[in-house]
Amino acid sequence: MCRLELDHVDSMARISRRRLVAGIAGLSLLALRAKAAGHVGALALTCIDYRLVDDAVHFFDGMHLTNEYDQLSLAGASLAAVSEKFPSSNKAFWDHVQIAKDLHHVKKLIVLDHRDCGAYKVAFGKAFAAQPDAETMQHKSVMLKLHAQMAKRHPDLAAEFYLMALDGSAQRVL
Ligand SMILES: [Zn+2]
Repeated sequence: MCRLELDHVDSMARISRRRLVAGIAGLSLLALRAKAAGHVGALALTCIDYRLVDDAVHFFDGMHLTNEYDQLSLAGASLAAVSEKFPSSNKAFWDHVQIAKDLHHVKKLIVLDHRDCGAYKVAFGKAFAAQPDAETMQHKSVMLKLHAQMAKRHPDLAAEFYLMALDGSAQRVL
């Protein structure tokens, strides 16, 4: 190749390199804008219980929601949203449903209760159901209440309700 041809090849390589760099920068800018616009699939409501923090993350990962959900943790989860025993939690829950919709356009609420929940013990006292089937029904009754309030206040949001055992396994209740 003559000198002129070599110069030409070199300048073409430089241009395509520059285009590649600009392309990558453009892509990351787009990715940043997408993050800033913030569309995520769901708002997750969990209990605060330390025993199941990692299991909850694993559960949502399993739903293919890794870094794609807002999370709100309030003692009792479903109970926090609707129990008259926890009025400040009720307010925090409904405020955050609206915030998650406004900021991140969530389309679904996913409620993750768990067994042996201290908040359920506080709210139900002696009526707290420690037997698995009765415990499931107790959570279901609270979840039904929340489901009805969601349908009334946010009919545009879907809602799913799960109950997690202390070994991290979860079952859908509603
Ligand atoms: Zn709990």
